[in-house]
Amino acid sequence: MVKILVVEDNIVNMKLAVLLLQKAGYSVLSAIDAEAGLALAQTKQPDLILMDIQLPGMDGLVATALLKQNLATHTIPVIALTALAMKSDEDRCRDAGCDGYITKPLRYQELLAEIKAQLAKRDHSLYSSTEPNKE
Ligand code: MN
Repeated sequence: MVKILVVEDNIVNMKLAVLLLQKAGYSVLSAIDAEAGLALAQTKQPDLILMDIQLPGMDGLVATALLKQNLATHTIPVIALTALAMKSDEDRCRDAGCDGYITKPLRYQELLAEIKAQLAKRDHSLYSSTEPNKE
């Protein structure tokens, strides 16, 4: 079963994300701050992470940069969740290493489409790096 880690400090947003992901058939792990999220990412090796950007203490951008610097977690796709919707914010997320970007409030179809796209991209790159090029 595909395992998704949600890092989100807002309890209402967390409940919604968990509900949508479970409805879509994913197994869900949750963390209410970046520190707990980093620990779970390392120990549970989720297939994908939904990362809220505005978190108490360490923010989601710093947490994502740390995930991407860590050999144990750097291949896990990270989708940023943010209420901010300006182009500069998307750039900041990409600069920090986020693979995708979704603005809140979460919309079911958009969330699932982005998750599927990121998982497909990850599977493709894992395959490419372990198989010799036959072309
Ligand atoms: Mn937040």
